[in-house]
Amino acid sequence: MKERLEELQQEALKKVDQADSVQGLKDVRVEYLGKKGPITEVLRGMGKLSKEERPVIGQLANDVREHIAQAIETKQTALEDAALEKQLEEESIDVTLPARPVKIGGPHLLTSIVEEIEDLFIGMGFEIKEGPEVETDYYNFEALNLPKGHPARDMQDSFYVTEELLMRTHTSPVQARTMGAKDGSEPVKMICPGKVYRRDTDDATHSHQFTQIEGLLVDKNVRMSDLKGVLNAFAKQMFGADREIRLRPSFFPFTEPSVEMDISCKVCGGKGCSVCKGTGWIEILGGGMVHPNVLEMAGYDPKEYSGFAFGMGPERIAMLKYGVDDIRHFYTNDIRFLEQYHKA
Ligand SMILES: [Zn+2]
Repeated sequence: MKERLEELQQEALKKVDQADSVQGLKDVRVEYLGKKGPITEVLRGMGKLSKEERPVIGQLANDVREHIAQAIETKQTALEDAALEKQLEEESIDVTLPARPVKIGGPHLLTSIVEEIEDLFIGMGFEIKEGPEVETDYYNFEALNLPKGHPARDMQDSFYVTEELLMRTHTSPVQARTMGAKDGSEPVKMICPGKVYRRDTDDATHSHQFTQIEGLLVDKNVRMSDLKGVLNAFAKQMFGADREIRLRPSFFPFTEPSVEMDISCKVCGGKGCSVCKGTGWIEILGGGMVHPNVLEMAGYDPKEYSGFAFGMGPERIAMLKYGVDDIRHFYTNDIRFLEQYHKA
């Protein structure tokens, strides 16, 4: 029995030594020290031994168990240390690798254009005004000489919240609100940039949401030549000192007379090319002298006060200035498009 125990001990220690994983060690423990293991088996046979032999074998069996358990524990610690060592080695930081580039954002092209236009008009003494994007029918249409049933309302089909509330179709209501707040005596000199909404089908040149900047100047003795002077300064600053402007007659319900402004084509210098469709001119914005009805509704006496107004689309300005061929680029947020226009 003594030999059997010594044999088992040697066998077990050898297996412990050979085990190369924590699971392998567990298997050895179960095999030799488990309730169904050979040592337990030996102990069960102790009944056949003499009184003198029993404690000797019992002691030996305990020593063998102890010995194997100790060996398993030592080996387990060694295996765990090795595993940790290996993991640390694999996860070590290679400081020679180049760092991932830090992505730095920048203003959206439209934001840059709007800010550039704002700066330009602030330089000419205009104030920046803002107003609500959900607007009343009164401010969006009626105060701008577009009574209910006016055919020009059809050109601005919009998203209605209720019968009397809608997503504003232009930034003109901000002009009506600003004039209305002045009591009909103070002059107004403002621009209003902001988002506007129309029920348009999105394509390369149309979007259901876009940006507008309108301008308004109301004072005594404001003339058409003042409008032309301001727009000429704007065009030269925005598109280059060599650009010419021309005004063509047009129609808007809130201005009388109304004009469209073109700038000379940069590509052909006015000779005519595919960009300007052979005309030498490119349409930029609309404007005109504030309609007497609009002045009157805002509390100004049209016999004493006059004014001019104009409106432009920053998308169109950006498309012309940077050769962007599709308005949807501004709204789909493709980083490859946007980052081309981040200023350094
Ligand atoms: Zn041209």
